[in-house]
Amino acid sequence: MSADEEEPPILEVWLDRAWVWICPECETENFEHSEKLEMSEDDQDDLRRRFYDLEPWQELTEDHEVIELYTAPEEVVCMCCQFAYHVENQ
Ligand SMILES: [Zn+2]
Repeated sequence: MSADEEEPPILEVWLDRAWVWICPECETENFEHSEKLEMSEDDQDDLRRRFYDLEPWQELTEDHEVIELYTAPEEVVCMCCQFAYHVENQ
Protein backbone atom coordinates (compact mmCIF):
# COMPACT_ATOMS: atom_id res chain seq x y z
CA MET A 1 0.00 0.00 0.00
CA SER A 2 1.48 3.34 -1.06
CA ALA A 3 1.35 6.53 0.97
CA ASP A 4 -1.30 7.91 -1.43
CA GLU A 5 -3.83 5.29 -0.30
CA GLU A 6 -3.57 6.06 3.39
CA GLU A 7 -6.60 7.56 5.08
CA PRO A 8 -6.05 11.20 6.00
CA PRO A 9 -5.72 11.61 9.76
CA ILE A 10 -8.94 12.64 11.52
CA LEU A 11 -8.33 15.82 13.47
CA GLU A 12 -10.25 16.75 16.58
CA VAL A 13 -12.08 20.00 17.28
CA TRP A 14 -13.49 21.50 20.46
CA LEU A 15 -17.25 22.15 20.49
CA ASP A 16 -18.29 25.42 22.12
CA ARG A 17 -21.82 26.32 23.17
CA ALA A 18 -23.58 28.82 20.92
CA TRP A 19 -26.95 30.41 20.31
CA VAL A 20 -28.55 29.83 16.94
CA TRP A 21 -31.02 32.18 15.22
CA ILE A 22 -32.60 32.37 11.79
CA CYS A 23 -32.48 35.70 9.94
CA PRO A 24 -36.08 36.82 9.15
CA GLU A 25 -34.82 38.64 6.07
CA CYS A 26 -32.81 35.95 4.25
CA GLU A 27 -33.43 32.85 6.42
CA THR A 28 -29.71 32.26 6.97
CA GLU A 29 -28.82 30.25 10.07
CA ASN A 30 -26.51 32.34 12.28
CA PHE A 31 -24.55 31.38 15.39
CA GLU A 32 -23.53 33.55 18.34
CA HIS A 33 -20.87 32.69 20.90
CA SER A 34 -22.02 31.92 24.40
CA GLU A 35 -19.84 31.69 27.47
CA LYS A 36 -20.61 30.27 30.85
CA LEU A 37 -20.78 33.05 33.45
CA GLU A 38 -18.21 32.49 36.16
CA MET A 39 -19.80 32.96 39.58
CA SER A 40 -18.43 32.83 43.08
CA GLU A 41 -19.77 30.06 45.30
CA ASP A 42 -21.82 32.64 47.26
CA ASP A 43 -23.40 34.08 44.10
CA GLN A 44 -24.12 30.56 42.88
CA ASP A 45 -25.81 29.73 46.22
CA ASP A 46 -27.86 32.97 46.09
CA LEU A 47 -29.02 32.10 42.58
CA ARG A 48 -30.05 28.59 43.62
CA ARG A 49 -31.89 29.93 46.67
CA ARG A 50 -33.86 32.38 44.53
CA PHE A 51 -34.51 29.80 41.81
CA TYR A 52 -35.81 27.18 44.26
CA ASP A 53 -37.60 29.82 46.37
CA LEU A 54 -35.93 28.78 49.63
CA GLU A 55 -36.49 30.50 52.95
CA PRO A 56 -33.33 31.78 54.68
CA TRP A 57 -33.49 28.92 57.22
CA GLN A 58 -33.71 26.22 54.52
CA GLU A 59 -30.53 24.39 53.56
CA LEU A 60 -29.39 23.88 49.99
CA THR A 61 -29.15 20.17 49.18
CA GLU A 62 -28.10 18.07 46.19
CA ASP A 63 -31.74 18.24 45.01
CA HIS A 64 -31.20 21.93 44.34
CA GLU A 65 -29.18 21.52 41.19
CA VAL A 66 -26.39 23.91 40.30
CA ILE A 67 -27.64 26.56 37.86
CA GLU A 68 -25.43 27.61 34.99
CA LEU A 69 -25.90 30.93 33.24
CA TYR A 70 -24.64 31.73 29.76
CA THR A 71 -23.93 35.05 28.10
CA ALA A 72 -26.11 36.16 25.18
CA PRO A 73 -25.79 39.14 22.84
CA GLU A 74 -28.40 41.92 22.96
CA GLU A 75 -28.00 42.65 19.29
CA VAL A 76 -27.09 40.36 16.41
CA VAL A 77 -26.08 40.93 12.80
CA CYS A 78 -26.82 38.44 10.03
CA MET A 79 -23.59 37.12 8.51
CA CYS A 80 -25.27 36.93 5.11
CA CYS A 81 -27.35 40.10 4.58
CA GLN A 82 -25.81 42.24 7.41
CA PHE A 83 -29.23 43.16 8.83
CA ALA A 84 -29.07 43.93 12.56
CA TYR A 85 -31.68 42.80 15.09
CA HIS A 86 -32.41 43.30 18.76
CA VAL A 87 -32.63 40.05 20.70
CA GLU A 88 -35.96 39.44 22.43
CA ASN A 89 -35.70 38.93 26.16
CA GLN A 90 -36.18 35.29 27.07
ZN1 LIG B 1 -29.93 37.74 6.72
